[in-house]
Amino acid sequence: MVEADNDQVVVRLQQVRKAFNVGLPSETEVLHGIDLALRSGEFCAVMGPSGSGKSTLLNIVGLLDRPTSGQLSICGQETTSLDDAALTRLRGRSIGFVFQYHHLIGAFTALENVMMPMLGDAGFPSRAMHERAAELLGSVGLSHRRDNLALHLSGGEQQRVAVARALAMRPAVLLADEPTGNLDTKSADVVFELLRHVNREHKTTVLFVTHNPALAQRCDRIIEVVDGAIVAAPA
Ligand code: ADP
Ligand code: MG
Repeated sequence: MVEADNDQVVVRLQQVRKAFNVGLPSETEVLHGIDLALRSGEFCAVMGPSGSGKSTLLNIVGLLDRPTSGQLSICGQETTSLDDAALTRLRGRSIGFVFQYHHLIGAFTALENVMMPMLGDAGFPSRAMHERAAELLGSVGLSHRRDNLALHLSGGEQQRVAVARALAMRPAVLLADEPTGNLDTKSADVVFELLRHVNREHKTTVLFVTHNPALAQRCDRIIEVVDGAIVAAPA
């Protein structure tokens, strides 16, 4: 993982713009010059109407998509000049994702799903991978479910497995795109507390998209995205 000091800025966007269908008659700009800095250990809620650009923003911060213009640095590394292979490496060791729909592989066990990001990483011989996945499942309270197929778990359990999987590579930044949007109140609370715990325990920087004002209030900071711009970003 890329190390980040305590009050270091781990995510910095400067004038980030994103347009889709560039050069076509249907070209639309959906992010209009975003400036944002997140310090190590910050837990930041992202709110805003559907279609305002929240997922596009997270995909860019998570190096799944590139800005059309502007600068993005992750853990001090300027990313816009990196080639795809370098971006993929940086993403693998710095970023964890949790989505609204967990994207687990239903026919794999909970343990196998958590091991997936470690496959093919030379730092993880299979025994170490197995142990780490078991430890992560324990940390989300699901040791007893490790050998169950993901499709047999409840929605809340599946999302906790997704959190464990996101943490496999000890990411400096955890991006959670409406991770509680599909859950009942109780499960949503459990998943939120889990993210909060990871954030406090490991100083993981979290960007958490939610439509739930009560959960947003429990974050360190709330930013609101409206029509592709941040309208409120108190420091
Ligand atoms: P949110 O997550 O806030 O609901 P999104 O970031 O998903 O918003 O979408 C912002 C806008 O960008 C929407 O108008 C959406 O239709 C558009 N958009 C998102 N992805 C694409 C894409 N791949 N191609 C074209 N338009 C897109
Ligand atoms: Mg979205």
